[in-house]
Amino acid sequence: MHDETLYDCIIIGAGPGGLQAAIYLGRYNRKVLLIDRGGGRTRHARHIENFLTWKGISGKQLIELGLEQAASFNVRIEKGLVTKVLKKGSFEVFVGDTTYHSKFVIVSSGVYDNLPSMEQLHRFLGISLFTCIDCDGYKTTGRKLVIIGNSIKTVHLAIAMKEMFTEDITLILYSDKIPDEYKEELRDENIRFIIDRPVRIIGDDTIEALELKSGQRVACEVIMSHFGFKLNDDFLSELNLKRDRDGFKFMVNQQYESSLSGLYIVGPLNTGTDQAVVAAGQGAVAAIDIKSRLLEL
Ligand SMILES: Cc1cc2nc3c(=O)[nH]c(=O)nc-3n(C[C@H](O)[C@H](O)[C@H](O)COP(=O)(O)OP(=O)(O)OC[C@H]3O[C@@H](n4cnc5c(N)ncnc54)[C@H](O)[C@@H]3O)c2cc1C
Repeated sequence: MHDETLYDCIIIGAGPGGLQAAIYLGRYNRKVLLIDRGGGRTRHARHIENFLTWKGISGKQLIELGLEQAASFNVRIEKGLVTKVLKKGSFEVFVGDTTYHSKFVIVSSGVYDNLPSMEQLHRFLGISLFTCIDCDGYKTTGRKLVIIGNSIKTVHLAIAMKEMFTEDITLILYSDKIPDEYKEELRDENIRFIIDRPVRIIGDDTIEALELKSGQRVACEVIMSHFGFKLNDDFLSELNLKRDRDGFKFMVNQQYESSLSGLYIVGPLNTGTDQAVVAAGQGAVAAIDIKSRLLEL
């Protein structure tokens, strides 16, 4: 099935990045289609406290207000999973058995966290189990913290958390493959560390302890989980876009255009910081650039 409309821009993903871009392009009276499959990382954020003018807002509310605002500027919003994007002159965007066409595409499909498998994780995720120092480090201030992870970067995180938020830290690492100088630094910083794996969070309304595979229980009030994330990028696989040196994140220019002309990538899929307000800012920059290019066309 072909939607005969040639959209000025199709936006993939209704997180802060995609919604902000949609609001700008809608307010330029452009023909815009926003496609979102539902769910998403921002929707899982229970309390966002660092978004300008909102001392505390749930991610769900932020998205719902954004959808309402975009729709009020005549942005067409469709629920669906984008499975493929191609460029044959104009862009072709595939959703189920429908193909949509556009002059420009903004990808704002976000990322998803790698989470360790342990009992009760989802009960506390976003409340007292966190994954991001910039989002939720503050909420650990002065509290008994356990950090779990599997890389040297987790050691850096523990030292940073101690410097900014709390003295009371236990670090649980999956493997002992950390150089001696790091172990020494942890000792100097008075950060306890244990080589083991978590299996269960103990507690009903609040976290009381983390139970490890060895049976040991580590008392704590908050947990920081640090296992990185994956990109929601399967639908871009046929475009051969340029990535960073690690072959992971997408390279973009200052307007967030990727190595393929006309296709913009905003939010944590590019090499920038993973924050709602940053994704929104990038969405605005991409939309303003597309406005100028549509005028040139
Ligand atoms: C628990 C938690 C707490 C957080 N707290 C904060 C905080 O306090 N402050 C802060 O600034 N940031 C916070 N973040 C991070 C913030 O949510 C991200 O930086 C932000 O989501 C990035 O926005 P985005 O628009 O790029 O992507 P997202 O918000 O992830 O939105 C992407 C959208 O694209 C959709 N999508 C993905 N693939 C497809 C596809 N193939 N087809 C159609 N749709 C698709 C998804 O379903 C989703 O709706 C938090 C994240 C989590 C998980």
